[in-house]
Amino acid sequence: MQWQTHEVSNQVPELQDYNLFDTDIALREGVQRERAGWHSADLSRFGAELGSNAVLELGQLANRHEPEFLSHDRFGNRIDRVDFHPSWHELLRLLRREGLHALPWMEPRPGAQVARAAGYFLQSQVESGSLCPTTMTFAAIPVLQNEPVLFASLKAQLFSREHDPRDLPLAQKKSILIGMGMTEKQGGSDVRSNTTLARPIHGTGRGAEYALTGHKWFFSAPMCDAHMVLARADGGLSCFFVPRWRPDGSKNAVLVQRLKDKLGNRSNASSEVEFQGAYGIMVGEEGRGIATIIEMANHTRLDCVIGSAGLMRHALVQAIHHARHRSAFGRPLAEQPLMRNVLADLALESEAATLLMLRLARAFEAHDASSDPLEHAWRRIVTPAAKFWVCKRALEFTGEAMEVWGGNGYVENAPMARMYREAPVNSIWEGSGNVMCLDVLRAIEREPQGFALLLAQLNTTAAAEPGLRTLVESLSTSLQAPAEQREMLARRVTQQLVLALQADLMLQHAPVAIAEAFIDSRVDAGCGRVYGTLSSPTQQQDIVERAWPL
Ligand SMILES: Cc1cc2nc3c(=O)[nH]c(=O)nc-3n(C[C@H](O)[C@H](O)[C@H](O)COP(=O)(O)OP(=O)(O)OC[C@H]3O[C@@H](n4cnc5c(N)ncnc54)[C@H](O)[C@@H]3O)c2cc1C
Repeated sequence: MQWQTHEVSNQVPELQDYNLFDTDIALREGVQRERAGWHSADLSRFGAELGSNAVLELGQLANRHEPEFLSHDRFGNRIDRVDFHPSWHELLRLLRREGLHALPWMEPRPGAQVARAAGYFLQSQVESGSLCPTTMTFAAIPVLQNEPVLFASLKAQLFSREHDPRDLPLAQKKSILIGMGMTEKQGGSDVRSNTTLARPIHGTGRGAEYALTGHKWFFSAPMCDAHMVLARADGGLSCFFVPRWRPDGSKNAVLVQRLKDKLGNRSNASSEVEFQGAYGIMVGEEGRGIATIIEMANHTRLDCVIGSAGLMRHALVQAIHHARHRSAFGRPLAEQPLMRNVLADLALESEAATLLMLRLARAFEAHDASSDPLEHAWRRIVTPAAKFWVCKRALEFTGEAMEVWGGNGYVENAPMARMYREAPVNSIWEGSGNVMCLDVLRAIEREPQGFALLLAQLNTTAAAEPGLRTLVESLSTSLQAPAEQREMLARRVTQQLVLALQADLMLQHAPVAIAEAFIDSRVDAGCGRVYGTLSSPTQQQDIVERAWPL
């Protein structure tokens, strides 16, 4: 063509039509090891589908075409409805079809939590916003299971594998989604400051009906069919099941004020709501609302770990793919020694996050968690620790992976910018960083025997590994600090604990050289590092090959 000014060259082909499961060696091995091998064929099928151009495109579309809030219909009736792009519903259809909202509750067999975690990890590489209502539904089920009458009326719709986007009363729906509402304007971490009031309208206490008056400052996925809401009854802060529609078929008085204009997670609607005498059923004991909803929050925190590990995995794969196809100064970026160092370092972090999230998911297996004290310790102590660490690491990780793409990483028509904007939210919601670290301290104090079991496991491995030994010793030293200093040290303690657990997992399950590279860089080099500072060139090529074989 006459007007052509240049040839387009050295641009990287789109990464598409690959199998997210088959290409992930650490994930495949982990699924097998953690007793979920029975699900591998399904994960492989799902991994191929998620890696198709059509599904990857859904993630882009759902974030480009954001949800729209409609307060009234055209006749002036209040509807409080949020409309989504069809891609959002397609993503929810996939999540639901794979059982990622309920699999371990539907099929409580050994490995079910790990099987579900692996599927969630795969889908989190495509789109994050749609995970929010999926997670909240997943996390609400164990709480609702403690309310036999209510649960019996919801079970079929909760367990359904069909996504039903219709805005209808519960009884008319094929399937339902559940959200949660705790945070108010005056406080999110300190929910004891909640002011929303619950007045009894039919009986009192567990299972009784109440009218709620007040607000929630963050109320994600308002189109969920019900939310688990904290409100103050006569006997103290309690948990309520608040449906979108009342049992008589009228719309419940949960009034959406507006949607949040968010940094990331843009496919998902997060709203502010007011309750004007909203109908709710008390769940759990009156006055035990925090304890009731914490059971739910524990599961959402697990999902924050899985989701952030998935985000890292996707950022890593995109970074390696780019570096292999883009050349600078005469050779592919991936062959430049310093870039190889960055990629290898990112790969170590990603593998350690993958191993940790799979191990943590195993601790949520119902029978193990109740009967095995080590599993209980993982669940109670390591969940907040992993939530803090993996979500925090994802922030820097996605920024570094974006930089591998250079300027192309910074534009919105490629996946890196979206991942970068997505990273912070898992660190903020469901308990922000400091709150998680303080919870780790509290859990260690309350569960000394469980913590001793974790330490014993670490010490066994540390006997043959000086780097790990040093780390475990400094963890113990930090914990012996005077009581008035301990709170100030909570991030340090948590970081030491998670790094030690990750080092232990890497030593047990990754190739020796890779585990040693992790320990050399994370444990021996101490804190305050950036990616790309591995000190030895040995094995860097192998680390990158293992991470992304294509
Ligand atoms: C996109 C998005 C969606 C959300 N969706 C929901 C939802 O659906 N339902 C819901 O209930 N909430 C939701 N949230 C709210 C979220 O859970 C809260 O923002 C979070 O728990 C923090 O509460 P806050 O914003 O009130 O901050 P604050 O509680 O004011 O905390 C601010 C900072 O102080 C730190 N901090 C708090 N206490 C201490 C302490 N003792 N020592 C040291 N540091 C401390 C925290 O770690 C945090 O970094 C959402 C938030 C976001 C961003």
